[in-house]
Amino acid sequence: MTSVMWFRRDLRAGDNPALLRALEDGPTLPLFVLDPALWGPAGRPRRAYLAHSLRSLRHDVPLSIVHGDPVRRVVEAAREVGAESVHLAADHGPYGAQRDQAVEEALDDAGVSLVRTGSPYAVEPGRITNGSGSPYKVYTPFSKAWAEHGWRDPVGPPKDPDWRHLKDTVDLPDPEIPDGLALPDAGEAAAHERWQEFLDRIEHYDDDRDKMGVDGTSRMSVHLKWGEIHPRTMLADLAPLRSEGARTYRKELAWREFYADVLHARPESAREYLRAEYARMPYADPDSPDSHLEAWQRGRTGFPIVDAGMRQLRATGWMHNRVRMIVASFLVKDLHLEWQHGARHFMRWLVDGDLASNQHGWQWTAGSGTDAAPYFRVFNPTSQGRKFDSPGGYIRQWVDELADPAQVPDPHEPGDDERDLVGYPAAVVDHKAERQEALDRWQSIRD
Ligand SMILES: Cc1cc2nc3c(=O)[nH]c(=O)nc-3n(C[C@H](O)[C@H](O)[C@H](O)COP(=O)(O)OP(=O)(O)OC[C@H]3O[C@@H](n4cnc5c(N)ncnc54)[C@H](O)[C@@H]3O)c2cc1C
Repeated sequence: MTSVMWFRRDLRAGDNPALLRALEDGPTLPLFVLDPALWGPAGRPRRAYLAHSLRSLRHDVPLSIVHGDPVRRVVEAAREVGAESVHLAADHGPYGAQRDQAVEEALDDAGVSLVRTGSPYAVEPGRITNGSGSPYKVYTPFSKAWAEHGWRDPVGPPKDPDWRHLKDTVDLPDPEIPDGLALPDAGEAAAHERWQEFLDRIEHYDDDRDKMGVDGTSRMSVHLKWGEIHPRTMLADLAPLRSEGARTYRKELAWREFYADVLHARPESAREYLRAEYARMPYADPDSPDSHLEAWQRGRTGFPIVDAGMRQLRATGWMHNRVRMIVASFLVKDLHLEWQHGARHFMRWLVDGDLASNQHGWQWTAGSGTDAAPYFRVFNPTSQGRKFDSPGGYIRQWVDELADPAQVPDPHEPGDDERDLVGYPAAVVDHKAERQEALDRWQSIRD
């Protein structure tokens, strides 16, 4: 019995139960559909990374690549090779779930079955519920239930696969990489290499993860985003480790699973406020010349830690988690812009851009999400920088104007003369005043 394995966010041959399931049935067509609905909005960094990742997967799996609406393309591919089933790992995002349902119906009309095996998560979104059968709304109880639920062991790569091919396929695109952007290595081998390298220093994770100037985190987010490694593989490696670092790391993986679960339960939260009352708060107009949205996007706000983060994003397609929180807080609480403007910019530039983690990372920081911490906890960008980037190496690395200690002795708070000397902009707002303004606006939705 011939099958199709439709790859999407699972660009690996190892620990891929859907792929094994397809090959169990017999000869298999490994398929990737370049879907214009996803390719268009992905942003140049993510498109370029995806192309590299597909190129890498092709070393192990002879992918047939087609372009167009998956509802048509998957059915055509199944017909061409005479497949009786199409296998995939379930997608729980709002677009992916609807697309898969439409594909399932079209396949059904053609007499082909759609088989979902696994998902990009250790525990499938929607599976963990509280005592009354509802989804969890808060991270801590979710993460406990998630750990208690557990997950399957990883599975090995396919043995002696019998592959099928399509006659007409498109060439792998070679998208232009934005000037000055250096992408990380893509693919399953690169993911495993990075993971092994990180495991050697995981015991320091707990101490180093908040220091933006230190390579203290794993940088596995991009590999997880594209499924070049499955979290189950990582959790199996973590299981025997007893360090505080390994324990904390597991909790971080649980955040990824939690946000996927929240988005699954509340798909509209990809665009709308999870806490509806926040939609009533007065916000700044992003099109107004004094909104400072562009200064924020370009890393020219005059707040060194914010600018360092925004420039790191453009240079690498990645930003340190602590800095993501600082720049997000700055956009929402200092510039009074709605979180969606920042989330959109992140999704355009992040190579790990993931709807669930991104939108809920933003909502968490904006105060409208799953956070138990109150809105009035406003990050002070300068003291955050001093605390987590002492003595300022991260700022000096990413903000060229502030790189030279002889010209700018304190990169956290350059003086007016120093700013003039090195051509670094003045602060676009007064943090103290805008903090108060944010609290006043918040008060208006509480009255
Ligand atoms: C405003 C904002 C936007 C974000 N956007 C994204 C995004 O688009 N894609 C994305 O993968 N992460 C996002 N995050 C979460 C987090 O910043 C990144 O996962 C992390 O910085 C990736 O680097 P790392 O792999 O070195 O992390 P590590 O510290 O090594 O963490 C290990 C893994 O745990 C998961 N993880 C860690 N922290 C979080 C978190 N807060 N939420 C969800 N998962 C987490 C990630 O899969 C990460 O790879 C966002 C956070 C914020 C505050």
